[in-house]
Amino acid sequence: MERRFSEFKGFVFDIDGVLKVGETPVEGAANVVEFLQDEGKKVAILTNNATRTRKDIVTQMARIGIKVRAGDVFGSAYGTAKYLKEEFGEGNAVIIGEKALAEELKAAGIAVLPAEKAEEADFVVVGLDRSFEYGELAAALRAIEAGAKFIATNEDPRLPTEKGPVPGAGCMVAALSACAKRRPDVVIGKPQPYLLEIAMNSMQLGKNDVAMVGDGLETDILMANRIGVFSVLVLTGTTPKKIEPLKLPRELRPSAILMSVKQLAARW
Ligand SMILES: [Mg+2]
Repeated sequence: MERRFSEFKGFVFDIDGVLKVGETPVEGAANVVEFLQDEGKKVAILTNNATRTRKDIVTQMARIGIKVRAGDVFGSAYGTAKYLKEEFGEGNAVIIGEKALAEELKAAGIAVLPAEKAEEADFVVVGLDRSFEYGELAAALRAIEAGAKFIATNEDPRLPTEKGPVPGAGCMVAALSACAKRRPDVVIGKPQPYLLEIAMNSMQLGKNDVAMVGDGLETDILMANRIGVFSVLVLTGTTPKKIEPLKLPRELRPSAILMSVKQLAARW
């Protein structure tokens, strides 16, 4: 199915490996986003990274010349908070994660408990934590043993940087899974479709009107394919440039492949 990009009413972009790599912007990314906005297209930003609030991501995007509003941003910290609020209304959480995750939970009315009160938690929420340590893992295990639900913001094993991969939130999820002896009850981030679904709801667009642009086959592309959204793979991130799409299992096969996000405007 060949579709022209001008047909779509909305574009959802992954950040890492698509708009930037580490702290370095992908060449032409800001121009493409501005072009889409000038054409009247809706633009949303979607990321598994739970170390930034929506506002933080707006600031981060502004730094690489991309103008979006907080309401256009769907990070897994925000998504997790929204999910818990919608499913359970309220509750207490202990977290393995950074400040942004706690902030998004609090903004949604989910209280964040100190480790000493772990047994009172309704949820254990796990995201990337760059100061991950034994005490918080032990508190999370106590919460789970006392009946808390195990909620993973995402399971990314690695994050790409200019200097090569660094450990992602999936490592913290795996640590808790190992000692809790079970999988998370819920995973919010890609390849689960939740973040894309809330982005589409917010844009008021259906699955035929949206293109998902990402660099990860097993995250971005799988997520979009699962719910029938046009999936666009870019080769500026984790997927090797020598990819052979026809050899991929159907669910990982992108609808289109571009060398870079820059080429979106060229196939108009
Ligand atoms: Mg990515």
